[in-house]
Amino acid sequence: MSAFKSKYQDELIANATYIGTPGKGILAADESTGTIGKRLSSINVENNEANRRALRELLFTAPGCVQCLSGVIMFEDNYYISLCVGKLFVEVLKENKVLTGIKVDKGTIELPGTNGETTTQGLDDLGQRCKKYYEAGARFAKWRAVLKIGANEPTPHAIHENAYGLARYAAICQENGLVPIVEPEILSDGSHDINKCADVTERVLAACYKALSDHHVLLEGTLLKPNMVTPGADSARVKPEVIAEHTVRALLRTVPAAVPAIVFLSGGQSEEEATVNLNAMNMLKGKKPWSLTFSYGRALQQSTLKAWAGKAENIPKAQAALLTRCKANSQATMGTYKGDANIDGASESLHVKDYKY
Ligand code: 13P
Repeated sequence: MSAFKSKYQDELIANATYIGTPGKGILAADESTGTIGKRLSSINVENNEANRRALRELLFTAPGCVQCLSGVIMFEDNYYISLCVGKLFVEVLKENKVLTGIKVDKGTIELPGTNGETTTQGLDDLGQRCKKYYEAGARFAKWRAVLKIGANEPTPHAIHENAYGLARYAAICQENGLVPIVEPEILSDGSHDINKCADVTERVLAACYKALSDHHVLLEGTLLKPNMVTPGADSARVKPEVIAEHTVRALLRTVPAAVPAIVFLSGGQSEEEATVNLNAMNMLKGKKPWSLTFSYGRALQQSTLKAWAGKAENIPKAQAALLTRCKANSQATMGTYKGDANIDGASESLHVKDYKY
């Protein structure tokens, strides 16, 4: 059955294609209030509205960064916040040709009868929420499904449940003019090798594209946000070229060429690892029908957060740190990154077991 006709069809295709423009990527700044609290407490800063706004303001107004960004993802509760000077964040970003998106899922809950596998909530009033966000200026959305690798996981039940949840979400978004970012994140927790991750990634992505097809989703107006194919966090590291080869092969086997772009999550890799692995994929010779860019949270914000430490006088230093990462990742989308952003702790692992967004 072919994709359904949305009145937003041309706009969805144009926006998804724009977000995937080589040289640009997405800043994921959609941490829930609880998750941002953990980040702030790592720099001894209190989790209150003023501090959350100050962090986001420094991120969204950092000089030079917007040229490397095509999108910013926000948490729905603070989509409507404004800069200290009164302008809405959304307006500032729009003026700089950065599309805004919203995390529309409501987090995960355990699937009964499984060994801690989860499904993602938030479908019930999703249509009305998407309509409201479109009217407020949002042009894309994110929904994070989480799968884990274990002795018997992910189970076919968890794969099926999460794939159909993502597809249902994607169809609802498109009906309301939002480009859905389809994010089936396979956590890196564990001591498995890279082949195991490749096998699971292929099974999960194949199930997602079957579900998206069953739901008549217009693939040209979607984006995929997958994990890279890597060994487990407790396993020995492998070279970027190996990660690139395994990741691109898994994607080629499962992601239709109609999808304009693949925007990777960083998933606990260090800032530098996330950059060099993306760079290696874009250097890889051979068929790649989609653009390969970034939608990083931790791997774009960590050195900025540390440089800021909650102090107004550190804002220029923090914004310079963000610019370093933005430029490096922009180059990585074109395979031209030379390693010069590997400074000031950029190689520190950002892995957190059972990470919640
Ligand atoms: P990380 O890059 O920190 O993994 O987060 C990206 C994201 O949006 C996960 O949902």
